[in-house]
Amino acid sequence: MSKIQMTTPLVEMDGDEMTRILWQMIKDELLLPFIDLKTEYYDLGLEHRNETDDKVTVESAEATKKYGVAVKCATITPNAARMTEYNLKEMWKSPNGTIRAILDGTVFRAPIVVKGIEPNVKSWKKPITIARHAYGDVYKNTEMVIPAAGKVELVYTSEDGKEERALVHTFNGPGVVQGQHNLNDSIESFAHSCFKYALDTKQDLWFATKDTISKKYDHTFKDVFQEIFDKEYKDAFDKAGIEYFYTLIDDAVARVMKSEGGFIWACKNYDGDVMSDMISSAFGSLAMMTSVLVSPAGYYEYEAAHGTVQRHYYKHLKGEETSTNSVATIFAWTGALRKRGELDNIPELSAFADKLEKACIKTIEEGKMTKDLALITSIENPTVLNSRDFIIEIRKTLESL
Ligand code: NAP
Ligand code: MG
Repeated sequence: MSKIQMTTPLVEMDGDEMTRILWQMIKDELLLPFIDLKTEYYDLGLEHRNETDDKVTVESAEATKKYGVAVKCATITPNAARMTEYNLKEMWKSPNGTIRAILDGTVFRAPIVVKGIEPNVKSWKKPITIARHAYGDVYKNTEMVIPAAGKVELVYTSEDGKEERALVHTFNGPGVVQGQHNLNDSIESFAHSCFKYALDTKQDLWFATKDTISKKYDHTFKDVFQEIFDKEYKDAFDKAGIEYFYTLIDDAVARVMKSEGGFIWACKNYDGDVMSDMISSAFGSLAMMTSVLVSPAGYYEYEAAHGTVQRHYYKHLKGEETSTNSVATIFAWTGALRKRGELDNIPELSAFADKLEKACIKTIEEGKMTKDLALITSIENPTVLNSRDFIIEIRKTLESL
């Protein structure tokens, strides 16, 4: 059997701990035997980030701008404990934060749905993808404790010195106050990423704010989305047979709980923070969540939503057996390969990605799975496999398809 050829390399961002071990197994067992894999390799493992003063992270993001598609392994975000563990020169910033700052993207998180791992919400049949706006609002706020009676105002001073004032509140006694902001540029980028990704995945896009109460702040979000949609995406949505749907945030929450799933839910920063945790826990397992960073310029970076699974890695180092779920990391690869196939017009590559995803799902649905899934599955007497054997089973299923 001849291997599938690639024309443009994928940007490969290697990572840390247990996911780094899985990364190599996935390549050896599931990719290299079938694809003439072309990647430009960046080692984002913490040791190499430290050696390069974290330049490697910036370089990997720049390469993503050049080639358009990246696949990333989970990486350690250093904290005090990691400083000593890895003898770090500095507490390097989160690679995901650095990459997002360079690509200016939105993160879309979606669960991988399989029979036998039922979501807690009975009506959900298809994945619900959450897109969180990752700039501003309460995350970049200014707060003040008001100690006693007095007046609080918002003051805007324009560059030519003109002042505009609005009364926040006249306090009769102690209280609290908060100032928030957002930027039209950032909201526009968010909107473009959402509309692009909806077209890409042929799913409806929902967006919700509290514009009836917040007539300027939230209303700006609503207006920016609507203007960009009408001007640049409406025709493409019609052609693709998908919908852009705006509603109030409380109405959106109520509808989501009764829906079948199968759409993208764009959320303001705080809503996305809260709702993404609800969605991922209700769908079953963090190990089955994928994540993709989509930039408004159309660059894609695929990864698993979970971290480096440190606890399993320490067991692995002691020579103990691990049962770490590789599905979300495999789906990061398939997402990136499918995208590369689309961009370079290599249908075999996209078809291979589809087939590998099917193989993962079929393996689990046949009762062969890792421990995290065995604990929550409705399948009776599942076979619990270790990290390597699970990947080998997926390979067998893949070869049988
Ligand atoms: P984590 O790696 O996501 O793991 C937390 C726990 O969730 C694990 O101990 C395990 O539970 C379970 N789990 C997660 N993924 C699993 C999988 N694939 N298979 C089976 N079980 C899985 O989070 P963490 O332990 O808080 O963070 C570890 C490191 O990852 C940190 O250094 C953090 O900075 C980094 N991190 C990176 C990213 C990223 O690169 N995107 C994201 C988050 C965290 P049990 O132990 O109960 O089996
Ligand atoms: Mg959260």
